Amino acid sequence: MRGYPEPVERLLAALERLPGIGRRTAARLAFHLLKASPDETRELAQSLEALVDTVGCCSICWHLTEVQPCRVCSDERRDAGCVLVVEEPRDLLGIEATSLHRGVYHVLTGRIDPLGGVGPSDLTIAALIDRVSDPDRNARRAPVTEVILGLSPTLEGDATALHLSQVLASHDVQVTRLARGLPAGGRLEHASASVLADALLGRGPA
Ligand SMILES: [Zn+2]
Repeated sequence: MRGYPEPVERLLAALERLPGIGRRTAARLAFHLLKASPDETRELAQSLEALVDTVGCCSICWHLTEVQPCRVCSDERRDAGCVLVVEEPRDLLGIEATSLHRGVYHVLTGRIDPLGGVGPSDLTIAALIDRVSDPDRNARRAPVTEVILGLSPTLEGDATALHLSQVLASHDVQVTRLARGLPAGGRLEHASASVLADALLGRGPA
């Protein structure tokens, strides 16, 4: 006997390509979907299709969005001159939950990780420099006056922050960094709202 029916094998292969999912987990998920009501499984399929069709990256800040530019970049109540740089959209959401950052964001889509094969050119650093050097490229065409480095206090986060402060040094912009209250080695996305708030309010020169 060969494996499962072809549609099941196809689903298993697709699930196995997801991070953290091995063959056993893929099989558990696939059998759950087979046993679930057709409506439940169709809802999953449709939400995946909607994801592909409607969600992309903001052309200014690289946050996930259904509209261009994203709602943060186009919000007139925010200070578009103050750009908080984060690694991933989930870090942005963590800081948004504190309601303390009234500026905008720039999502790097990762961090410099030489061992993992991620260099500066794999991130959205060039787009950040464009925003800093040309107000037309920034949210609501505002000149950028401050860049806050909101990277995780990990080796990779520190390396990324160092690189960013070096490339931003030749630009007329204040570069600050979240205060060191964040637990060393921890990812920003795991920090509590109160710790993030302290780090943001206590930020200093990078
Ligand atoms: Zn945006």
